[in-house]
Amino acid sequence: MTGIDKIYIGPDATGQLLSYAAKKGLKRFVLIADDNTYRALGTKVEGVLKAKGYEVSCVVLEGASVHPDEHRLIEVLIKAPLGECTFIAVGSGTITDTTRFVSHRTGRAFIAMPTAPSVDGFTSVGAPLILAGVKTTILCQAPIAVFADLETLVSAPSKLIAAGYGDMLGKITSLADWELGCLLWDEPYDPGIAKRSQLAIDAVMKNVDSIGRHSEDGVRALMEALIESGLCMLDFGTSRPASGAEHHASHYWEMKRLEERETILLHGAQVGYALTLVAQQYARIRALSRQEVLDRLSIAKLPDRGAEIAKIREGYGHMAEEVMKEALPFLDLTEDAFENLKHRIVSHWEKILVVASKVPSSETLAGYLHKVGAPTSAAELGLKPQEVAPGFEFGHYLRNRFTSSKLSRILGLPLA
Ligand SMILES: [Zn+2]
Repeated sequence: MTGIDKIYIGPDATGQLLSYAAKKGLKRFVLIADDNTYRALGTKVEGVLKAKGYEVSCVVLEGASVHPDEHRLIEVLIKAPLGECTFIAVGSGTITDTTRFVSHRTGRAFIAMPTAPSVDGFTSVGAPLILAGVKTTILCQAPIAVFADLETLVSAPSKLIAAGYGDMLGKITSLADWELGCLLWDEPYDPGIAKRSQLAIDAVMKNVDSIGRHSEDGVRALMEALIESGLCMLDFGTSRPASGAEHHASHYWEMKRLEERETILLHGAQVGYALTLVAQQYARIRALSRQEVLDRLSIAKLPDRGAEIAKIREGYGHMAEEVMKEALPFLDLTEDAFENLKHRIVSHWEKILVVASKVPSSETLAGYLHKVGAPTSAAELGLKPQEVAPGFEFGHYLRNRFTSSKLSRILGLPLA
């Protein structure tokens, strides 16, 4: 395990933290939380550590909207005491990523104590931060340990549990897209990691009812799956095993909302809804006969570089230059390379159908999301109807990765 020496999900996580602190000879702690997570678990963590004689300073970020932006990063840097210490992040994604950055940049380690099973990024080395209004992932560090308190996770707000479910179910199309990337775009692939990710997906599908009821077993299964997904990314070295077209759409919606200073929606809630639309892409791909594929490819034209660049500028505005770097291999396709890609689509068509057959129908997936109370429509999610399609139209430029969105484009199928 890459630098993480303890992962615990269960009752009495604070007791586990105490044993760990004693074993590792840790002495001073800086606890980072927000109002809600301090109340949910932070006071307890502070209390048990102080009762054992540890020195603990707390930085509680106040206010309704806590985002991992410059303002909050500086706030933590200013309030955290100097000297040797171990940071403890008590919270969900935002608190963990803020702590990940500050601990790393001040040369200290951190322990993650998640308060909700809401995302799969707890064990990540990258911190998705909001810098100058743009979501940017900064390479930092993984926690040295994760202690997830089951009682706290079970009592987390329903919408956070539902979001974690959406983020996890979204791996279905992340994995399918990864296989397409391996078949058609020469992307590195690791069958062992894909298998682990698939088992994590299977577990949350099997436990959907108990997760929907927020039972201890269900919430534990969800948290274990999210942690496993995070470890798959850590072991593979990039987010590829856990992020495909569904994540690209979600990132695009979030970037536009940040730019327009609109409320940011929960990551996992967006991913879950985007998953249902990517499943429709896969259904359209599955429905094609071999002859239709040949007919569509015979009229498919090499993407026009100038038109593509204009499109990226239209979709991304001041962020276009950054996006362009990732989109270059697609923009720079030569006539020969494009013919070769079309040839590969035809020669691998049977395999593509096998990949597409692994993605359940949009209705089936919406049924799973519905059971846990996750949004299954743009209206339930809080997205305006006109925001939906651009997530797919522009989202695929965000990463040099092959996805069902790129395949749909080449085949002349609708993206959303
Ligand atoms: Zn995610």
